[in-house]
Amino acid sequence: ANKDSVKVAVRVRPFNKREKDASSRCIIFMNSNTTTIYDPRNPQNRKTFTFDYAYWSHSDFIKSKNGMLVPGEPNSRYADQRKVYQDLGQGILENSWQGYNATLLAYGQTGSGKSYSMIGNTVNQGIIPAICEELFKEIRENRDSNRQHQVSFSMLEIYNEQVVDLLSKSKAPGGLKVREDQQRGFYVEGLKSVPCESYGQIERLMEQGTRARTTASTNMNACSSRSHMVITIQLKQICTKENLTKQSNINLVDLAGSERQRSSGSEGDRLKEGTAVNLSLTTLGNVISSLADVAVGKKSVHIPYRDSVLTKLLQSALGGNSRTVMIATLSPADICYEETLSTLRYAERTKKIQNQAVINESPSE
Ligand code: ADP
Ligand code: MG
Repeated sequence: ANKDSVKVAVRVRPFNKREKDASSRCIIFMNSNTTTIYDPRNPQNRKTFTFDYAYWSHSDFIKSKNGMLVPGEPNSRYADQRKVYQDLGQGILENSWQGYNATLLAYGQTGSGKSYSMIGNTVNQGIIPAICEELFKEIRENRDSNRQHQVSFSMLEIYNEQVVDLLSKSKAPGGLKVREDQQRGFYVEGLKSVPCESYGQIERLMEQGTRARTTASTNMNACSSRSHMVITIQLKQICTKENLTKQSNINLVDLAGSERQRSSGSEGDRLKEGTAVNLSLTTLGNVISSLADVAVGKKSVHIPYRDSVLTKLLQSALGGNSRTVMIATLSPADICYEETLSTLRYAERTKKIQNQAVINESPSE
């Protein structure tokens, strides 16, 4: 198995209404694959990060004037959904065809554009539907009669450290159990995995699952999400002539908002949810930090996968048998400086992680 590091992309979105109302200034600057963030209270204080991809999806052109940034004319630098899909989604699909597991994680504060990038909307298709559509297009175009394909789709949510099947009507009290198996690693017992024959079918399942996703409003955003969503697409390629089966899992993860609880002013139940969500996110952060330590040569580092549901399910994606990509989404606004800087630092740590993906191929049963 070849070692390869987690690929990291950052994407900055346009100002939202709240930011416009606050006459926000843009504090993010991108130049090829570097991203610079300015401290709004002290523009001399700036930090530059380098990632595999940096997407400028802010609507305004910006110029630096005495270290200050000013909004200007609309421009054509805007990285649209197609561009992001071509860079990130296509690679994931190619890896999957080769038999590698692949994972895409969206990380960022609530309202920064995670769901927009991953799912999108009817006009601006996100990465997940684009992957699914292309997958079935390629299957349809297959002319090799010795090659058969099976696709299945599952969609779950982790909410309060409980796993909810977004495709199942009956809700197990306390959520579904996460089990461990020598061969499969961690998995969700009883999770519905629906065999799919067309993109239309997946589209409907995705709509059903999105409707079922638990959301709670907070001060940050009317439909802010405190839950993590995990879509898994399983692709099996059966080569009848050689009697071989290649199998690949594509995990597509829309993480809960990364903002710390204090900034959303939650109380009561909401606070409890927040704390539990933080357990999965905090543990994810700890796993990422420990793996970054391993990557720089530290010995006998304990990786706390078992400390949360999310990290159990993402074990192979993080430092294991998967090709993994993270898209970290950013607000452009000065009022989000602290959260955005913290997202950039998180992304910086993530890119150090080394995975060892292998082609999952075995004799057909
Ligand atoms: P999150 O899932 O991180 O909470 P959303 O994806 O819901 O955030 O985005 C918040 C809002 O910003 C949505 O109305 C979305 O349409 C808009 N938005 C996010 N990213 C972009 C982008 N790259 N281009 C245009 N609009 C965006
Ligand atoms: Mg969202």
